[in-house]
Amino acid sequence: MKNRKNNRAGLVRRMVQAGSLVVTLFIGIQFYRFASALAGGAIPMVERPPGVEAFLPISALLSLKYFLFTGIINQVHPAALVIFLIICLTALLFKRGFCSWICPVGLVSDFLARLNGLIFKRRVRVPKWLDRGLRSLKYVILGFFVWTIFLKMPLASVKGFLESSYNILADIKMLGFFTHISPPALGVILALAVLSVVIRHFWCRYLCPYGALLGIIGLVSLGRIRRNPSACTGCGKCERACPSMINIREKRSINSSECSACMGCVSACPEDKAIGFSLFLGKMPVKQAGMGMALVALFAVGIGAARFQGHWQSRITSREYLQLMTPRMERPGYRGDVRIDPEKLERMRRMMKKMGPDVKIP
Ligand code: SF4
Ligand code: SF4
Repeated sequence: MKNRKNNRAGLVRRMVQAGSLVVTLFIGIQFYRFASALAGGAIPMVERPPGVEAFLPISALLSLKYFLFTGIINQVHPAALVIFLIICLTALLFKRGFCSWICPVGLVSDFLARLNGLIFKRRVRVPKWLDRGLRSLKYVILGFFVWTIFLKMPLASVKGFLESSYNILADIKMLGFFTHISPPALGVILALAVLSVVIRHFWCRYLCPYGALLGIIGLVSLGRIRRNPSACTGCGKCERACPSMINIREKRSINSSECSACMGCVSACPEDKAIGFSLFLGKMPVKQAGMGMALVALFAVGIGAARFQGHWQSRITSREYLQLMTPRMERPGYRGDVRIDPEKLERMRRMMKKMGPDVKIP
């Protein structure tokens, strides 16, 4: 009976992950249509989806510094900051729950880890000393960004970057990176995928700076996995299920920065009430469905509030995008998201002339 319940509980996380993937794909397709229209020299008929700014974490960090020092939310990519803050908030409640419940890379990582189970009879274990060294890499990467942006970069440069055409077109360039991926970049992505098959969650565990940040915030999280020693038989099933290889049996409460609140340990445990996730020092138990709903609700409420306050849509209009893109596409060797033919470029030039004087980008 407990196993049936646990399987159903595991399904909840998969459903939330699948929902998040569908939303991400929808945003990706809509943004592709938006960028393709621009590259074709036309004002897009579709709206630019602000959710695409979830993939601009550097811009979000810069916006955060600007916001902390001035109290102003930069309006070039406001959704980037909003999403960044929501993700940090999830860590205050559910540790790295974003990684295992929402992040599409986390879903791909889970899938590659499954392949590991099909290919290898036993889990490939990295020696402890090497694992510790590799895990610190993500903190080094995060430290580099924090040091460069928060300590080295003057506020005037932050403002300059946020309002530069480089930042405005960052999403278009990111799309171009994937649609015209270079052989070295493809090689790196494939190598990371292969490494994630051999060593489960290689990217998330060792390299992702977002995961490092959430792990650090998660150390002061109000929620965590708690084990009840009086109900626990010490069978070790939770540890074998834990993707983060945490020694659960040694602890009463798991405060590791690696815990992704995936609830794998809870699902694997055959005993009732031996292990579970709870908030506020164990006073509020949270089941899987509750965690899934709470995470989705945090995003929905956060995005709704940002929309209401006018901090969701970028102030850059499609027309301004088009004006900024024209000189870039005329440059030799342009590698945007869609190659443009000379006829389309000419059409775009004629349209720009009709538009009149240059638009001032805020
Ligand atoms: S299995 Fe449990 S301890 Fe391990 S990462 Fe998932 S929630 Fe955390
Ligand atoms: S699976 Fe449950 S009973 Fe077994 S060691 Fe973990 S918490 Fe204890």
